Amino acid sequence: MKHMSIKLKVTLWYTFLMILVVGSVLIFMMLISRSIVTRDVKAQLSATVNSIGNALSMDDERLDLDLEFNLFQNQVYNLLYNDKKVLLKGNYPDAFVSEGLTFVSESTRTITNGELTYYVYDRLFNVTGEEGSVKVWVRGVIEADTAPNLMQSLFETALFALPFMVLVAAIGGYLISRQAFKPIDKLMKASNEIKNGGDLSKRIVLQDNHDEIGKLASNFDLMLSRLENAFEAEKQFTSDASHELRTPITVILAQSELAQKSAKTVKEHQEALSVIHRQATKISHLITQLLSFSRLDQSPDVSKFSDIDLSELAIAICSEQVEAWKSTIKLITDIEDNVHMKGDSLLLGRLMNNLIDNAYQYGKENGIIKVSLKKQSDSLTFIVEDNGIGIPKSDQAKIFNRFYQTDSSRTANDRGSMGLGLAMVKKITMIHGGDISVMSEINEGSKFIVKFTLY
Ligand code: ADP
Repeated sequence: MKHMSIKLKVTLWYTFLMILVVGSVLIFMMLISRSIVTRDVKAQLSATVNSIGNALSMDDERLDLDLEFNLFQNQVYNLLYNDKKVLLKGNYPDAFVSEGLTFVSESTRTITNGELTYYVYDRLFNVTGEEGSVKVWVRGVIEADTAPNLMQSLFETALFALPFMVLVAAIGGYLISRQAFKPIDKLMKASNEIKNGGDLSKRIVLQDNHDEIGKLASNFDLMLSRLENAFEAEKQFTSDASHELRTPITVILAQSELAQKSAKTVKEHQEALSVIHRQATKISHLITQLLSFSRLDQSPDVSKFSDIDLSELAIAICSEQVEAWKSTIKLITDIEDNVHMKGDSLLLGRLMNNLIDNAYQYGKENGIIKVSLKKQSDSLTFIVEDNGIGIPKSDQAKIFNRFYQTDSSRTANDRGSMGLGLAMVKKITMIHGGDISVMSEINEGSKFIVKFTLY
């Protein structure tokens, strides 16, 4: 039963139900018909006995036995007895055994002789004439099954038709459930194909099917699309990451080979070592970023977010950045006091760091960076603005993608820039339920606006 398909189970259940319903209806009809027929037969018996009794007459002082009517009427065998219970006229049915049968007035009794059942009705009549009167018993006997049993034959016909009806119900039920389960079959086929072949581009597409199964199928398709996108993104990420790692490793290998084979002077060795060091730093930077990214992909537990004093955090990060860059670029702040939000301080620190870092990296000599933090009634905004090289309009939507870098001649790649910083900023913003946007003009500067809704 466990391994039976739902189609078969549904069909079997409905067939069983049909047998049960038809069977109970037939049995019910049989019982009703029996009681109706019995009632009719008994009524027929007493009515016949009464009519015979009333038709009797006297011939002088004696009962007239030259009857003008037949004693066998309406399937009823009528018999006449005198008041001493001596048979005067009439016959019992052939198989009827009358010995020992007493007389009971005006009540119908059921007598069974062998396999046959009879109803017997007796009544004592007082037949009067001009010369006197005489008492006469009229006994009526009728076979219980005499009346044509219409219900019996109906029952027999139904019994004969039942297997045929069950067969039609079973085949019809199976065909209907097969039709109804077609979308599920399609769903199963698609999931099997994906399971066996791993082809995530497969779709179920159930047109014109807007019921629960149709919705399930479209949800399934939607889920497949998301899985396919995630899978593609993962593939892209891995290929980009290995590509980014391969470039510095190739440089390291080439430089070390060059140093081994051709470098003669200390200066030449030092130059090769410094290239190797720069590339190794780049790899280390990339690995750190990749690790941070994969941790972010596991989405931190929002329920563990704590209350963060963003004002304090922003001031600390700004001073760290000024210290680290020791640049001709001036950093000015406009940070409102006591701005709090729920979040992860490490991640929010990284977000600020990345944005300010970029502002320095892509700023102009003697330029200005402005960092501001403001609280509105139900939100807060963190803005990093610079007057640096700016970002082309065509690149502004793409800079938040992983590994996306605008024209490499503009990016200061010796600092280990990999195009992961802004993707990380965006991810952190999203984790905290915020939104990030950029406004920028080439050679005029860029403004990154992060907005968080306060709950
Ligand atoms: P990277 O590690 O290359 O800085 P990011 O994801 O931080 O990666 O930035 C992606 C690209 O966006 C950078 O390569 C740079 O071209 C551009 N960019 C980011 N911030 C700025 C900025 N403040 N000014 C100009 N260009 C920027």
